[in-house]
Amino acid sequence: MSAYSLPDLPYRYDALEPHIDAQTMEIHHTQHHRGYVDQLNTTLDTTDELRAAGDQPVEDLLWNLGKIPEESRNAVRNFGGGHANHSLFWTVLSGDGGGEPTGPIARVLEEEFGSFEAFKARFTTVATGHFGSGWAWLVKARNRLVAYSLPNQDSPLAAEEVPILGLDLWEHAYYLRYQARRRDYVDAFWNIVSWDEVNRRWEAAEQL
Ligand code: MN
Repeated sequence: MSAYSLPDLPYRYDALEPHIDAQTMEIHHTQHHRGYVDQLNTTLDTTDELRAAGDQPVEDLLWNLGKIPEESRNAVRNFGGGHANHSLFWTVLSGDGGGEPTGPIARVLEEEFGSFEAFKARFTTVATGHFGSGWAWLVKARNRLVAYSLPNQDSPLAAEEVPILGLDLWEHAYYLRYQARRRDYVDAFWNIVSWDEVNRRWEAAEQL
Protein backbone atom coordinates (compact mmCIF):
# COMPACT_ATOMS: atom_id res chain seq x y z
CA MET A 1 0.00 0.00 0.00
CA SER A 2 1.11 3.56 -0.70
CA ALA A 3 1.48 5.58 2.45
CA TYR A 4 1.49 9.00 0.85
CA SER A 5 -0.37 10.40 -2.12
CA LEU A 6 -0.07 13.39 -4.40
CA PRO A 7 -2.51 16.13 -3.34
CA ASP A 8 -4.54 17.96 -5.95
CA LEU A 9 -3.69 21.60 -6.50
CA PRO A 10 -6.29 23.92 -4.96
CA TYR A 11 -6.56 25.72 -8.34
CA ARG A 12 -6.01 25.16 -12.07
CA TYR A 13 -2.52 24.97 -13.57
CA ASP A 14 -3.03 28.37 -15.20
CA ALA A 15 -4.31 30.06 -12.01
CA LEU A 16 -0.99 31.73 -11.21
CA GLU A 17 -0.41 33.18 -14.70
CA PRO A 18 1.44 35.30 -15.63
CA HIS A 19 3.64 34.95 -12.54
CA ILE A 20 4.07 31.19 -12.81
CA ASP A 21 3.08 29.69 -16.15
CA ALA A 22 0.70 26.76 -16.53
CA GLN A 23 3.26 24.44 -18.14
CA THR A 24 5.69 24.93 -15.25
CA MET A 25 2.91 24.26 -12.74
CA GLU A 26 1.77 21.09 -14.52
CA ILE A 27 5.27 19.63 -14.86
CA HIS A 28 6.16 20.67 -11.32
CA HIS A 29 3.07 19.00 -9.87
CA THR A 30 2.67 15.89 -12.03
CA GLN A 31 6.36 15.09 -12.53
CA HIS A 32 8.46 16.57 -9.74
CA HIS A 33 6.07 16.41 -6.80
CA ARG A 34 4.71 13.02 -7.90
CA GLY A 35 8.28 11.77 -8.15
CA TYR A 36 8.99 12.70 -4.54
CA VAL A 37 5.80 10.97 -3.36
CA ASP A 38 6.55 7.81 -5.35
CA GLN A 39 10.15 7.63 -4.21
CA LEU A 40 9.15 8.26 -0.59
CA ASN A 41 6.67 5.39 -0.76
CA THR A 42 9.23 3.11 -2.39
CA THR A 43 11.76 3.98 0.32
CA LEU A 44 9.29 3.28 3.13
CA ASP A 45 7.87 0.07 1.66
CA THR A 46 11.01 -1.92 2.49
CA THR A 47 10.86 -2.80 6.20
CA ASP A 48 8.14 -3.07 8.84
CA GLU A 49 9.78 -0.27 10.81
CA LEU A 50 9.73 2.08 7.81
CA ARG A 51 6.18 1.07 6.86
CA ALA A 52 5.12 1.96 10.41
CA ALA A 53 6.88 5.33 10.12
CA GLY A 54 4.82 5.97 7.00
CA ASP A 55 1.61 5.85 9.06
CA GLN A 56 2.15 9.40 10.32
CA PRO A 57 1.53 12.67 8.49
CA VAL A 58 4.57 13.59 6.39
CA GLU A 59 5.15 16.64 8.63
CA ASP A 60 5.51 14.33 11.65
CA LEU A 61 7.73 11.96 9.66
CA LEU A 62 10.16 14.86 9.12
CA TRP A 63 9.83 16.21 12.67
CA ASN A 64 10.86 12.71 13.83
CA LEU A 65 13.51 12.24 11.13
CA GLY A 66 16.15 11.33 13.72
CA LYS A 67 14.19 8.17 14.53
CA ILE A 68 14.50 6.83 10.96
CA PRO A 69 17.24 4.21 10.65
CA GLU A 70 20.41 5.89 9.48
CA GLU A 71 20.71 3.95 6.21
CA SER A 72 17.29 5.28 5.07
CA ARG A 73 17.35 8.70 6.70
CA ASN A 74 18.79 10.61 3.78
CA ALA A 75 16.22 9.20 1.36
CA VAL A 76 13.39 10.12 3.76
CA ARG A 77 14.91 13.60 4.22
CA ASN A 78 15.01 14.13 0.45
CA PHE A 79 11.76 12.51 -0.70
CA GLY A 80 9.73 13.24 2.44
CA GLY A 81 11.00 16.80 2.36
CA GLY A 82 10.12 17.04 -1.32
CA HIS A 83 6.57 15.86 -0.59
CA ALA A 84 6.03 18.14 2.43
CA ASN A 85 7.66 21.20 0.87
CA HIS A 86 5.61 21.05 -2.33
CA SER A 87 2.40 20.29 -0.42
CA LEU A 88 2.97 23.54 1.49
CA PHE A 89 4.08 25.48 -1.57
CA TRP A 90 0.86 24.94 -3.56
CA THR A 91 -1.25 26.19 -0.67
CA VAL A 92 0.69 29.39 0.05
CA LEU A 93 0.18 30.54 -3.55
CA SER A 94 -3.02 31.97 -4.95
CA GLY A 95 -4.13 33.78 -8.08
CA ASP A 96 -5.94 36.11 -5.67
CA GLY A 97 -2.85 36.58 -3.50
CA GLY A 98 -0.18 39.22 -3.28
CA GLY A 99 -0.23 42.71 -1.93
CA GLU A 100 0.30 43.63 1.69
CA PRO A 101 -0.41 41.03 4.35
CA THR A 102 -3.40 41.41 6.64
CA GLY A 103 -4.31 39.71 9.90
CA PRO A 104 -1.97 38.60 12.69
CA ILE A 105 0.96 37.87 10.38
CA ALA A 106 1.08 41.52 9.32
CA ARG A 107 1.65 42.55 12.94
CA VAL A 108 4.23 39.80 13.64
CA LEU A 109 6.21 40.56 10.48
CA GLU A 110 6.33 44.21 11.52
CA GLU A 111 7.49 43.29 15.03
CA GLU A 112 10.19 40.89 13.81
CA PHE A 113 11.50 42.70 10.75
CA GLY A 114 10.51 46.33 11.37
CA SER A 115 8.08 46.52 8.46
CA PHE A 116 6.57 44.38 5.74
CA GLU A 117 8.90 46.01 3.21
CA ALA A 118 11.91 45.12 5.35
CA PHE A 119 10.72 41.51 5.61
CA LYS A 120 10.16 41.36 1.85
CA ALA A 121 13.66 42.71 1.22
CA ARG A 122 15.17 40.20 3.68
CA PHE A 123 13.32 37.20 2.19
CA THR A 124 14.20 38.34 -1.34
CA THR A 125 17.88 38.56 -0.39
CA VAL A 126 17.73 35.08 1.14
CA ALA A 127 16.05 33.68 -2.00
CA THR A 128 18.28 35.34 -4.57
CA GLY A 129 21.44 34.71 -2.55
CA HIS A 130 20.88 30.99 -2.03
CA PHE A 131 23.46 28.96 -3.96
CA GLY A 132 22.05 26.08 -6.00
CA SER A 133 18.84 24.18 -5.37
CA GLY A 134 16.84 24.67 -2.22
CA TRP A 135 14.09 26.71 -0.62
CA ALA A 136 13.67 30.09 1.04
CA TRP A 137 11.67 29.81 4.24
CA LEU A 138 9.80 31.90 6.75
CA VAL A 139 9.56 29.75 9.85
CA LYS A 140 8.38 29.84 13.42
CA ALA A 141 11.50 28.96 15.41
CA ARG A 142 10.52 28.76 19.06
CA ASN A 143 8.63 32.03 19.45
CA ARG A 144 10.36 33.97 16.69
CA LEU A 145 9.69 34.38 13.01
CA VAL A 146 12.89 33.79 11.05
CA ALA A 147 13.78 33.86 7.33
CA TYR A 148 16.52 31.60 5.96
CA SER A 149 17.24 29.16 3.15
CA LEU A 150 17.95 25.44 3.21
CA PRO A 151 19.54 23.29 0.49
CA ASN A 152 17.90 20.56 -1.58
CA GLN A 153 14.56 19.42 -0.12
CA ASP A 154 15.59 19.88 3.51
CA SER A 155 12.59 20.86 5.62
CA PRO A 156 12.65 23.23 8.61
CA LEU A 157 10.51 20.57 10.33
CA ALA A 158 13.57 18.33 10.71
CA ALA A 159 15.01 21.06 12.99
CA GLU A 160 11.66 21.31 14.83
CA GLU A 161 10.91 24.64 13.18
CA VAL A 162 7.54 25.23 11.57
CA PRO A 163 7.41 26.53 7.99
CA ILE A 164 4.92 29.35 7.49
CA LEU A 165 5.89 30.38 3.95
CA GLY A 166 8.24 28.74 1.45
CA LEU A 167 9.59 29.51 -2.00
CA ASP A 168 10.95 26.76 -4.22
CA LEU A 169 14.35 27.85 -5.60
CA TRP A 170 14.99 24.80 -7.76
CA GLU A 171 15.40 25.72 -11.42
CA HIS A 172 12.48 23.42 -12.28
CA ALA A 173 10.25 25.91 -10.43
CA TYR A 174 10.97 28.83 -12.74
CA TYR A 175 13.31 28.03 -15.62
CA LEU A 176 10.74 27.73 -18.44
CA ARG A 177 9.59 31.31 -17.96
CA TYR A 178 12.47 33.01 -16.22
CA GLN A 179 15.55 31.02 -17.34
CA ALA A 180 18.50 32.32 -15.28
CA ARG A 181 16.56 35.34 -13.93
CA ARG A 182 15.80 34.00 -10.46
CA ARG A 183 15.34 37.56 -9.19
CA ASP A 184 12.39 38.09 -11.58
CA TYR A 185 10.77 34.88 -10.33
CA VAL A 186 11.22 35.98 -6.71
CA ASP A 187 9.74 39.40 -7.52
CA ALA A 188 6.76 37.71 -9.22
CA PHE A 189 6.24 35.47 -6.18
CA TRP A 190 5.13 38.48 -4.11
CA ASN A 191 2.14 38.88 -6.44
CA ILE A 192 0.78 35.41 -5.60
CA VAL A 193 1.48 34.88 -1.89
CA SER A 194 -1.71 33.79 -0.15
CA TRP A 195 -1.62 35.80 3.06
CA ASP A 196 -4.81 34.01 4.15
CA GLU A 197 -2.92 30.71 4.11
CA VAL A 198 0.17 32.25 5.74
CA ASN A 199 -2.08 33.55 8.53
CA ARG A 200 -3.70 30.14 8.89
CA ARG A 201 -0.30 28.45 9.17
CA TRP A 202 0.98 31.04 11.65
CA GLU A 203 -2.06 30.57 13.87
CA ALA A 204 -1.76 26.77 13.66
CA ALA A 205 1.96 26.99 14.56
CA GLU A 206 1.11 29.11 17.58
CA GLN A 207 -1.00 26.24 18.92
CA LEU A 208 1.96 23.83 18.88
MN1 MN B 1 9.98 21.91 -6.80
